[in-house]
Amino acid sequence: MNVILMGAPGAGKGTQAKEIVKRYNIPHISTGDILRAEVKKGTNLGNQAQKIMESGGLVSDEIILGIIKNRLSENDCKKGYLFDGFPRTRIQAEGLAEFSKVESVIFLKCDDEVVIKRLSGRRACSKCGKDYNIYFRSSKKDGICDDDGAAVVQRADDNETTIRNRLKVFYDTFTPLMQYYNENKIFHEIRGDGEQQDTLKNIFALLDPLR
Ligand code: ADP
Repeated sequence: MNVILMGAPGAGKGTQAKEIVKRYNIPHISTGDILRAEVKKGTNLGNQAQKIMESGGLVSDEIILGIIKNRLSENDCKKGYLFDGFPRTRIQAEGLAEFSKVESVIFLKCDDEVVIKRLSGRRACSKCGKDYNIYFRSSKKDGICDDDGAAVVQRADDNETTIRNRLKVFYDTFTPLMQYYNENKIFHEIRGDGEQQDTLKNIFALLDPLR
């Protein structure tokens, strides 16, 4: 099953992705996660990407397509994939089409005020990755993970200036991508700002027939 999950930053892609990959047993491939891991390791690629990510801009299509091609050659991708944060441009979408056939594109639609609040309040455990939000799901002790006592941290690009730029970049690049996948009749829009369980039910209703 080859699926793309699309949505503005903060639309809930990461949260929904975890449930989707559990149900269909496919790998969750997030280019943002891959790039953050490279930055943490201090690789060449990470050093190149770091500044761009901190400003909220886009890493080059060439680098991203290289990462994806590499990742898809791994064994766990034989059953398919769930992309989160990729493709971000029409060039990436066309590049992907040269080596893989996408079956479904799900766009999680969310109002801007909702995503700004989710992102500016978002925190995660530096050790286990557990999600928190200072507005609606804070840890019991400020800055400390409930499960393992490690530090709860904020992503470097979750500050207000960068959030606004990430949203602008998203909307600038979204329309051509949506048109591209609409031409292939595989584009679907689902509301991402209601109850998480409702969103998930709607996603499963779309994807179950592809199994
Ligand atoms: P967001 O929460 O903004 O959707 P991601 O975790 O998907 O964040 O990505 C974080 C940053 O990594 C982006 O702002 C961008 O700089 C870079 N990035 C991730 N995926 C891509 C991609 N497919 N193309 C270009 N840049 C990317």
